[in-house]
Amino acid sequence: MSFSSFNLHRRILAGVQALGYNTPTPIQRKTIPPVLQGLDLIGLAQTGTGKTAAFVLPLLERLMKGPRGTVRALVIAPTRELAEQIDQAIASMGRQTGLRSATVYGGVSANLQIQKLRAGVEIVVACPGRLLDHINQSTINLSHLEVLVLDEADRMFDMGFLPDIRKILKHVPAKRQTLLFSATMPDDIRRLVHEVLHDPVIVQIDPGVPAYAVAHALYPVAQHLKTELLLELLRHTDTESVLIFTRTKHRAKRLGQQLERAGHRAASLQGNLSQNRRQAALDGFRNGSYQILVATDIAARGIDVSSISHVINYDMPATADAYTHRIGRTGRAAKTGDAFTFIVREDEDMVNSIERILGEKIERRTLHGFDYKKAAPKSGSVGVRKPLQREPSHRRSALRHSSGSTTQKNQAHKPAPSR
Ligand code: AMP
Repeated sequence: MSFSSFNLHRRILAGVQALGYNTPTPIQRKTIPPVLQGLDLIGLAQTGTGKTAAFVLPLLERLMKGPRGTVRALVIAPTRELAEQIDQAIASMGRQTGLRSATVYGGVSANLQIQKLRAGVEIVVACPGRLLDHINQSTINLSHLEVLVLDEADRMFDMGFLPDIRKILKHVPAKRQTLLFSATMPDDIRRLVHEVLHDPVIVQIDPGVPAYAVAHALYPVAQHLKTELLLELLRHTDTESVLIFTRTKHRAKRLGQQLERAGHRAASLQGNLSQNRRQAALDGFRNGSYQILVATDIAARGIDVSSISHVINYDMPATADAYTHRIGRTGRAAKTGDAFTFIVREDEDMVNSIERILGEKIERRTLHGFDYKKAAPKSGSVGVRKPLQREPSHRRSALRHSSGSTTQKNQAHKPAPSR
């Protein structure tokens, strides 16, 4: 099957070709036809499946006909990064259509956004908070809206945006097409679906199951040895771009600095950064000047870097859903990737939940030659190469890994690459 079978406008097809997409992904195959018919739709799919083009293409097709200069489509996304990515996808696929889009999110000047909106755009890609500001100040007019897209609805719920979304819904015409994408379907999203979608078509692409192209592995390790193990793993693993997740902003910042000191081209992305610095870290990661990006879950949302070969969970995520989202960052579309997760004893329950979702046991690995018994330093849990202090013997034995394989997978651990 090719994109031409959707009968899209030739100017839109030209955009698809320019992006180098040849074959529609499963979600595109299932989503584009009903959306072109004007039906409401729920897309149960994680990022990395090609869901952006699944809604952008039929949206562009619809807007080719009809008036220009008024906002006719609104895409709501949880983060500025995701909003930017969707906007870029619209710009790439719609480059020959003359359709215009604008992004609306907080942390940057509202005036520039107002100027762009006044100049006339057909598509707005927005985060909920700033969009509400514009609505309240009448600097955006949504009365001619035809299509509403809610992207990563479960994330928006996690981030507490549901009340804002309900307020926004009061300002858009009741007669419209609504599309909702979500990797999972928690009860609150299910309720929202009943309220805002009309007789929706449901398209399901392996909900909750991380990208099929990803190989998963667990690395049992003591908390205080995580950084050392990470450095060793990076030394022994052939990687392209690497995205590392930590539990807190502080740990992301600190680990980023430690990796830099160890000679890696690394940056960290956490909520404390200004928009400019976030963008610089992201751009650097995208263009390869940083090979490693350390991030927290919230900061990493929406990152789409096609060369990510490894996602490393330095800290276990808080929920199995968060694992799915993190892992969705690698193995995107036609690529494959590895997902390594460092686990401490307390993480076993979460490991069980993730294995249930995956429907299989995840391989436990140990890194040959790594000293897993090295005692913890006197203070600090993230640090490395601090003076050694012996651990109580019961703790040492608890840290030994008894289960799983003790060898490295060949494809994942090639001889140390030259850096
Ligand atoms: P998404 O799930 O929309 O974030 O897309 C994931 C990645 O797949 C992005 O890098 C897209 O550019 C890429 N992609 C989307 N659709 C296709 C396709 N039909 N063929 C190849 N790559 C695609």
